[in-house]
Amino acid sequence: MSDSPIRATVDYAKPGKQIGHLFVPYSHNLGGWANLMLPVAVVANGPGPTVLVLAGNHGDEYPGQVAVMRLLRELKPDQLTGRVILVPTLTMPAAKAATRLSPLAGTNFNRCSPGNPRGSPSEVVAHYLTTVLFPLADTVIDIHTGGRSMDFVPCAHMHLVPAGPQRAAMLAGTEAWNTDLCFLYADVAGTGLLPVEAERQGKTVITTEMGGSENVTAGVHHATQAGVRNVLVQQGVLRGEVVPRPRPARWVQALAWEDYRFAPESGVYENLVPLGSDVSAGQPVGATHFLERPDREPVEVAAHAAGVLVACRAPSIVAQGDCVACVARDVDPRRLE
Ligand SMILES: [Zn+2]
Repeated sequence: MSDSPIRATVDYAKPGKQIGHLFVPYSHNLGGWANLMLPVAVVANGPGPTVLVLAGNHGDEYPGQVAVMRLLRELKPDQLTGRVILVPTLTMPAAKAATRLSPLAGTNFNRCSPGNPRGSPSEVVAHYLTTVLFPLADTVIDIHTGGRSMDFVPCAHMHLVPAGPQRAAMLAGTEAWNTDLCFLYADVAGTGLLPVEAERQGKTVITTEMGGSENVTAGVHHATQAGVRNVLVQQGVLRGEVVPRPRPARWVQALAWEDYRFAPESGVYENLVPLGSDVSAGQPVGATHFLERPDREPVEVAAHAAGVLVACRAPSIVAQGDCVACVARDVDPRRLE
């Protein structure tokens, strides 16, 4: 049993379609007995897999939130075999404020797992996922983008979990998103990630970086919405035919810390090569300029190894230590240990 203080107005065991809220107790200066209300939906039709679809883990990442809101309106029980649970916006205060971090406590939701039932609202929600929603699910989908800080080649991505049935299921699910690029990534900025907890519980975890920056194109929205639907079909919960990949996936990996490049100094960052370009070892991918010292040569950021630039800095103003580039190398993930 979970000791979560969250109250759900939906019954996960009930067939049919329900749309309700997760009431997350908190208080603010004008609300002593307030609750954050996070929309949640359950669409269920008999025995079958349960897929949990999440977005808005980081508030400023909207393509997934739009895609899950659309699913929430469109999915009907008779389209399913099994159950889909949808939470379109995990960090509502951040989504409303267009911020990555929750403005309530400055927390990064994706560093709060496994959570704490007596912690900040983000920690309470993370604990609810860990103790209530993940145990119900066979598959966990968590839709990210680069938010305002980074821009990604739209890709589905995953951790390289230990070889075995879980990894094989995650590789197939990741490819079913039908993004040209599929990406094995590493955690270079802290622990407590939502997917890590879901992986620890043995779930098939499918995540994305669908673009980024504040310019969300129609193409990114379409790829996000088509991708999540195709994964639901591929997972066996949404009836229909899996849309085959238009071309084989290009799998890339950035599993070394050096694959992630950080600004050595604060200033104005210039991307030197287009996102998605192939780069050589040592090739400059960006440069930091100094507003107060235009006479100073810009400080370059170079690729550590040859590969493809899968992510780059989005805002021009950069602080020392910000991640400004990620260079990933081609890999056949089915040949990895
Ligand atoms: Zn994110």
